[in-house]
Amino acid sequence: MKYVLITGASSGIGLAMSHEFAQKGHNLIIVARSEDKLLQLKQSLISEYGIDVQVKAVDLSISGAAQSLYDQCKKFEVEVLINNAGFGDFSNIWDMNLEKAENMLNLNVNALTMLSLNYVRDYHDKPATLINVASIGGYKMFPTAVTYCATKFFVSAFTEGIAEDLKVGNKQMKAKVLAPAATATDFFNQAYTNAGLEAEAATDRSQYTPASVLADYTYQLYQSDQVVGYVENEQLILQGPKFDFVANKL
Ligand code: NAP
Repeated sequence: MKYVLITGASSGIGLAMSHEFAQKGHNLIIVARSEDKLLQLKQSLISEYGIDVQVKAVDLSISGAAQSLYDQCKKFEVEVLINNAGFGDFSNIWDMNLEKAENMLNLNVNALTMLSLNYVRDYHDKPATLINVASIGGYKMFPTAVTYCATKFFVSAFTEGIAEDLKVGNKQMKAKVLAPAATATDFFNQAYTNAGLEAEAATDRSQYTPASVLADYTYQLYQSDQVVGYVENEQLILQGPKFDFVANKL
């Protein structure tokens, strides 16, 4: 039996992606810290779509947790791995909460890297797809989100690089970057929690892209031949790599 593994499946974009892939008939391995939410989601996915769902409750910001998760999932055939779990940290750079910044690096960069490298090692000669969730902040810098954007620059550059290496090496596996713009999830609350900036209560976030639309974009990216799914003016732009690649090896 084949599975789609989605990290950060308990809320927001990952939750919507879980419904999207389940609706299309894919079995799921859903991952996040909140076991209660994952178990509820499992029940609703099974009853709505009749698929198989495996729950993995894990804090991916803990050193070694991503490797342990990957090892536990080795008994499943993972046709798609979506590294979606991540959070932001909105602060003037001189006021950064260093503990939060370290957790963000652990989750957004380290866990994503370990899961991606394990997956590429085991599935490069199979029809598998790696989708890493970056951000438009992975292609341009936003003031007061510098460290967050830098984590997402890592995600976009690393994933485009994997896609290029797989292509040059004539491998079957595909790697893709999803780069969302502002999406209506809990992301902004998390980004302002324990951060150096107060949330702007007056900000109207009702116009942000719904998570269900992002999930539909993710499926379009999955089915396309393109490497990058970039969201601009609430539209999905499917395109090739945005970074420059040099032809010669080092
Ligand atoms: P969200 O609603 O806050 O969801 C974040 C998900 O990540 C939750 O399921 C959360 O579940 C999980 N997570 C957080 N910390 C974790 C940890 N230590 N270990 C395991 N799972 C963890 O935010 P979202 O908007 O859906 O974010 C999803 C991705 O989209 C992130 O990578 C984010 O950077 C990216 N993104 C979002 C936006 C936006 O505007 N919303 C824009 C661009 C990019 P638990 O709390 O249960 O662990």
